[in-house]
Amino acid sequence: MKSLLKAARFAAEKHSTQKRKNVAGSPYINHPLEVADHLATVGQVTDEDILIAALLHDTVEDTQTTREEIADHFGETVASLVMECTDDKSLEKAERKRLQIVNAPKKSDEAKMIKLADKTCNLRSILTDPPKDWDTKRQREYFEWARQVCDGLKGVNAALEAELDTVLKEGLNRFRTQ
Ligand code: ZN
Repeated sequence: MKSLLKAARFAAEKHSTQKRKNVAGSPYINHPLEVADHLATVGQVTDEDILIAALLHDTVEDTQTTREEIADHFGETVASLVMECTDDKSLEKAERKRLQIVNAPKKSDEAKMIKLADKTCNLRSILTDPPKDWDTKRQREYFEWARQVCDGLKGVNAALEAELDTVLKEGLNRFRTQ
């Protein structure tokens, strides 16, 4: 509990200057908080390391945070989970997206759950409050790509997968008719 709050505060400080891509430009921290809450409430995940890693899952990829910093504050298990959720930003975006599909089945069960929750929350945001400069085509392409990534993340948490399928279905139906 104490570490969870420490992680929420750590993530809030690291993401403090960043905003979400929606029209309102919501604070970025809303996203990791939503992912951690989704794991706890939908996925019934109680493992503290997983919830902490969910709060921190975008810090290394999107801020100056290092793996060592996370290991020092939250331990090796959390650090390695965060790294499993971190893309190599030295690669081109298209290559990073391709690798997410290829590497999804190779992740640990714990990282698969975090990534499932992350994708579900991002997909739901596109349906309810999309990035301000994304047209329908880009939204549809994100859904199609996310479905491929998530195909490789299945078999670890039935409730998370059911929720993902609901959101995927809603989006793919909506874009099919447009
Ligand atoms: Zn994320």
